[in-house]
Amino acid sequence: MKTLYTLFSFLSLIYASSGQENFNPHTLPRPLIVDLYKKVPLSEDVVLHCTSWRFAVEANNLSPWKTIPKECKDYVDDYMNKKGYKSDLERVSKEAILYASTVELKGDGKDIWVFDVDETLLSNLPYYAQHGYGLEIFDNVAFDEWVDKGTAEAIESSLKLYDELVKLGFKVFLLTGRSERRRNITVENLTKIGFHDWEKLILRGAEDQGKPATQLKSEKRGQMVEEGYRIHGNSGDQWSDLLGSPVSVRSFKLPNPMYYIA
Ligand SMILES: [Mg+2]
Repeated sequence: MKTLYTLFSFLSLIYASSGQENFNPHTLPRPLIVDLYKKVPLSEDVVLHCTSWRFAVEANNLSPWKTIPKECKDYVDDYMNKKGYKSDLERVSKEAILYASTVELKGDGKDIWVFDVDETLLSNLPYYAQHGYGLEIFDNVAFDEWVDKGTAEAIESSLKLYDELVKLGFKVFLLTGRSERRRNITVENLTKIGFHDWEKLILRGAEDQGKPATQLKSEKRGQMVEEGYRIHGNSGDQWSDLLGSPVSVRSFKLPNPMYYIA
């Protein structure tokens, strides 16, 4: 009886989604799936709650977290794909350009700007869209498979800042937690979408395995300072890109409500 009822319900759905008189069995599965997963508008309470949560993320007020709150999945989806994320990114880029243009460079090639890579220069949004915008626990195997495709797009506002810095005469250092094994694909991906002329790309080497990002990046910045570089600016989507010692003269935190790296 239950099976019959299920079958009847399914057929009703098929009938309802088929446009009735223009029935075409070959086009059925797609519209059916889309309809069933259509998002409902977010309530004011959910928006308020998730905005407060996102603010706490950006202000680094949360304890280390592994996934976004369940109830904020659609909120994060909206933020990332509608106007919010882009607008916040543009704001950060504009402020960074404004600051960079006031820095007096010595002209000895030692004035530098440090960029993180993922969610700073490269957007992995298509990957995270497939993984619940941070609702799923981070899966490094699946993520590495995505990285190896080399198809991440540029964060346009960061590309603008990047180009501006090169024009102004800064040397650009890229400092990423990506493994040294992914150097070639990272270079290929970055250059393909318009990032050129960096001074150095520093990845996580064999000797860096297991180091928390704050420690890794602090050590690498320490080496830069030891080599006589002056770090005027540092852009990253994680606080672990920016905190520690030595720090940059100015740090620019890009938004990222999808994941947290300690
Ligand atoms: Mg990053």
